[in-house]
Amino acid sequence: MATDTFGRIVDYLRISITDRCNLRCVYCMPAEGVKWRDRSEILTFDEIERFVGLAAAEGIARIRLTGGEPLVRPGVADLVRRLRAVPGIKSVALTTNGALLPRLARDLAEAGLDGVNISLVSLDPEVYSRVTRGGRIADALAGIDAAFAAGIPTVKLNVVVVRSLAQDPLAFARMTIERRVHVRFIEYMPVGDGDDCAPGEVGGGWNRAEQVGSDETLARLNDGAIAAGIGPLVPLDGLAPVGRGPAEYHRFEGAKGTVGFISALSHPFCDTCNRLRLTADGKLRTCLFSDDELDVRTVLRYGTDSGVQSVIRAAVAAKPESHDMRVGTSRPMSQIGG
Ligand code: SAM
Ligand code: SF4
Repeated sequence: MATDTFGRIVDYLRISITDRCNLRCVYCMPAEGVKWRDRSEILTFDEIERFVGLAAAEGIARIRLTGGEPLVRPGVADLVRRLRAVPGIKSVALTTNGALLPRLARDLAEAGLDGVNISLVSLDPEVYSRVTRGGRIADALAGIDAAFAAGIPTVKLNVVVVRSLAQDPLAFARMTIERRVHVRFIEYMPVGDGDDCAPGEVGGGWNRAEQVGSDETLARLNDGAIAAGIGPLVPLDGLAPVGRGPAEYHRFEGAKGTVGFISALSHPFCDTCNRLRLTADGKLRTCLFSDDELDVRTVLRYGTDSGVQSVIRAAVAAKPESHDMRVGTSRPMSQIGG
């Protein structure tokens, strides 16, 4: 079991398997896009599998594949199968924009994928297309249906809340009434270039005015739900319906799914942080907001197993106590993996 300097058990690893993406969401990537890393810089599946085996021996038990868009990397279902078979790994999940799920959901389910988080920023086709810079809402919705049809055990929807997008939280939350889907509202985070984290159409980049605290989203949601005769939400009091992530969950009486809030800024959950992040180019990050990276790719390519394990231990030991409300990181969210 890996325990960090602040007594937190680190048993969760997010792996970005590609920096490439088929969309360019305004809160994640700059308008001009990101220069893709050369393929030789990206970890191979053999390297990822070896790393996960060594990380499992250090106490990592749950994996999430992310990106960029993980489903654009050929053979992703094979990778899921390989990681699911690593001794000590209890779950492998994936975060995706969903557009390629109609093609891949069945293979992923057969490979043993435990859960999928699908990002859905808006239910309005025009807004969705504008914010994702060309994405089609129909593809994302078809991806959700495909995940259910394939029988992937857990399906969650990620909604990044941005003030100028004027999203209607109730429209998303209604989806949990008839479907066992877990909708999570995520506070827009200042990850990316300096103090202009996500330049683009979202009000000129991240700033406090664009960020909406979860308390406000919950209050709006409850007002709307009560007016519509379906609310209010009932808190699940720290009991996550699935997993052990940072979301605080609620449920409408009798609903099949839940509504969660991920409030990194308004209610930081650093004291329960259980994770490391591996970037597609093989750097271990100790915190989403910290630019301290440990180079594991070089050790994977030219070093020994015990060398890799030393890097994992060093990363756990270097986890900062909190993100300290830092604004801006050296890499955009698409390179870190969220
Ligand atoms: N392409 C996949 C997707 O969009 O789900 C996986 C990678 S994406 C970087 C991972 C998650 O980060 C997504 O749920 C996305 O909505 C979220 N995200 C991206 N930029 C964000 C930001 N500035 N603040 C909060 N969440 C963000
Ligand atoms: Fe791509 Fe996901 Fe970032 Fe959108 S949020 S640009 S889909 S990596």
